[in-house]
Formats: sequence, structure tokens, C-alpha cells
Amino acid sequence: MLTGKCVDTHCHLDLYPAPAHIVQEINRIGLHVIAVTNAPFVFQATQALAGDSGSIHPSIGLHPELVKSHGTQLSMLLERLQDIRFVGEVGLDYSEKIEHERRQQRKVFESILQKCQELGDKIVSIHSRRAVSDVIDMVGFGFRGTAILHWFAGTEKQLAAAHRNGLFFSINPAMVLSNSGRRLIAAMHPSRVLTETDGPFIDIDGKAALPSNVEIVIKHLANLWNTSEEEVIERIYGNFLRATDKPHRESP
Ligand code: MN
Repeated sequence: MLTGKCVDTHCHLDLYPAPAHIVQEINRIGLHVIAVTNAPFVFQATQALAGDSGSIHPSIGLHPELVKSHGTQLSMLLERLQDIRFVGEVGLDYSEKIEHERRQQRKVFESILQKCQELGDKIVSIHSRRAVSDVIDMVGFGFRGTAILHWFAGTEKQLAAAHRNGLFFSINPAMVLSNSGRRLIAAMHPSRVLTETDGPFIDIDGKAALPSNVEIVIKHLANLWNTSEEEVIERIYGNFLRATDKPHRESP
């Protein structure tokens, strides 16, 4: 049961083969979608794709795995931050054990975080594969905006550290389908939980995940929190409003 209160805080709209159809579907339901991008030069096209939809939020990003090839676009991103509130996908990815690349990623991420901290009120969707501790340390405590850990896959200890630093967590269907993901979701404070799909990168029954697939996460949370799907939708929507509230307020 999807309503205009459902949210997908991490979706790569621009990477679907026929994104206009997805946009139509989002607008029909009224879903709130953060349309992340992987490099600054594709932001404008994503903005055009979102059109005048009030519920699609184009987000400017520089994916850590693209820092190597597109790192020179950092200045473009930093300039645009003045008038763009949504930032992502950004972060760190330590899948490759190449120290100078990791260092370059940290430099880029640090510059972005610094600018966000300076301007305040940014909503940042963060990738942290195999780099959770560094990401949490770099965001730090008292970030002047909202930091969302997308697809968190760290330890329970790291999860506790993320809670202490005030971070949000966006949960996707792949996390719900894995044992380790479910264990972590159960340890997340409900007031910090958001829903996402990471579409089209996540596969659901052989098909690229769509924003409407947040329903899978909603169903799981209803079971976990022992409440109705309607109540889960209300809570997540409440979290989303708090996460995107202006000016930013501290969450419990
Ligand atoms: Mn992603």
C-alpha cells in the first residue's frame, strides 16, 4: 500500500533505461524521492528529469568509486552547493586496497563535508562500503544538516557510533533480504530510519528495483516493530520531515 507519504531517499533515477516512466509513476503516487547522482556533470539532466515535481529532490553527488575518473569535477560540485540542498551520492568505498585512491576519496569527501558544514542545512546521502568507521569519524558529531548512511553494513559497534553522531539510516530491500542486514535493522532506533531502494542497482526477482519497492522495506518494518504498515509509513514520513526540516533540528 503506497501513499504520498512513502519515501525513497536514495534512487538513481537517471540510470534507468526509461526514467520518464519512473518519474510519471512517482508523481502519480506522490512518492518522496531523493534522486541521487554519481557525478556533478549529470546533475542538470537529473534536475530536468525531475521537472516541476515537488516530491522529487535532485541531489548532486560524486560517488567515491568515480573520484578516480571524475575527481576534477569536485570544484563544480562545491560551487553548486550554494543553491542545492540535497547532496549525494558521496562518501568512501574501500573495496579496493589502493591507498592513494582511498586518500583521494577522503580528500574529496572531506571538502564536500566541510562545505556542507559551512553552509548548513544540507541533506547528504552517504556511501560507506568497507569504510564505515572513517565515514562516521569524518561526519563527526554535530553535523549542521542531515547525514544519511545509505546501505549501512558495518558492525553493531559502528552502528552505535553512528547513532551517537546523530546519523540517519536508509534501508533498502537488499538489506531486508540478508541476515546481517536484518540484524542491523533491528538494532536501529526507529526515529533514525528512512527507506530507500538504490534503484536500479538492486535486483528484485530479476528486475531493477523501482521506488515503489520501498514497500518491501515497509512490510519488514511493520513486522519488526510489531505495528501496521500505515503506522510505519507515518513514522518514516515523520523521520523524513525531521531530516529535511529547515532549520535543522536535533533528533533524539
Ligand atoms: Mn547508490
